[in-house]
Amino acid sequence: MGYVLSREGLDQVLQGLGTEYRLYAPVLKMGEGRFADTDVVRYDFVTSLDQIELSKKSDYAFKELLTPLSETLFFFTEGEVKVADKDVRDVIVLLRACDLHAVKRLDQMYLANGTEKDWFYQRIRDHVRFALIGCPSSFENCFCASMGTNVAPEGWVFSLEEADGGYRCAVADGTLAGLFAEHADAEADVEPAHVVENDTKVRVPENVPTAIYKHQMWDEYTVRCLKCGRCTIACPTCTCYTMQDVFYTDNGRVGERRRVAASCMIDGYTDVAGGGQYRRTGGERMRFKVLHKVHDFRARFGYDMCVGCGRCDDICPEYISFAACVNKLADAVDALGKEVDGDE
Ligand code: SF4
Ligand code: SF4
Repeated sequence: MGYVLSREGLDQVLQGLGTEYRLYAPVLKMGEGRFADTDVVRYDFVTSLDQIELSKKSDYAFKELLTPLSETLFFFTEGEVKVADKDVRDVIVLLRACDLHAVKRLDQMYLANGTEKDWFYQRIRDHVRFALIGCPSSFENCFCASMGTNVAPEGWVFSLEEADGGYRCAVADGTLAGLFAEHADAEADVEPAHVVENDTKVRVPENVPTAIYKHQMWDEYTVRCLKCGRCTIACPTCTCYTMQDVFYTDNGRVGERRRVAASCMIDGYTDVAGGGQYRRTGGERMRFKVLHKVHDFRARFGYDMCVGCGRCDDICPEYISFAACVNKLADAVDALGKEVDGDE
């Protein structure tokens, strides 16, 4: 089911949806970027089409809607524990194909990684639905085609994209068809647009020998990486968090437990008792992150964690390219394979 709508028509649809759902979408924040006089595109609550930025890639992903940067899980007193209440109104999030693939990764980590589902994630996730923003062309640094995430998986309720001065929408959830039909100019066959090829291409190695852990390719990142963690905060698939107990009183028996976003790239993440630290250098942290994204996750779940959105490359203050690193990894794996063949 598909529809052609004018700008006013789609705006009416979104306002109609807004009576039942809270809508979240990429929003251009003028002058709110990291540096002076820079803009940023971030997810925010929207009520009209005018507020939504459809022509740019969002600098930060949608993931804080499912995994808040800081979330109070429960409150404790001397003898009781109370689960924190949560505003769990139904939500529709507008996102692109790569990010819908990222939702699958988040679901995997929180709902299908071990014997127990993450109850706190589940109670948010149960109320979130997704609308697909069509991608007629690639953005800078995207490599979704290399990662097989350029075509959206199932799970979106409707799609939208600009075309011919208006909008084309496919509606997958039949319960929404009436609303679209009411405000549409015409019915049409609509397939959400997707990127076929990116300028950036990545070659993911199939098997990574353990000899790669001590390879000199990582030394470059010890010199260049600031260990700031921006790449992981922008990444739609990074899920690391830490726990914080916040005490309200001096006796330390009343307070709350929070789940707070963390990053494998920053200081403190691998600290252990006695002053130990498993990964001190930028090179070691880059190795851990890259192998997790394109090897370790696949070894456990059968598909890669990285969805090729390119946000880590967009945001790195040192211009470190994750895509280039994966290609270097593939070359290093090839070279190691030849060394082994030569030894035989
Ligand atoms: S590692 Fe980089 S390209 Fe891959 S999903 Fe994360 S931010 Fe996107
Ligand atoms: S790779 Fe770049 S963004 Fe990531 S921690 Fe290092 S310097 Fe920061």
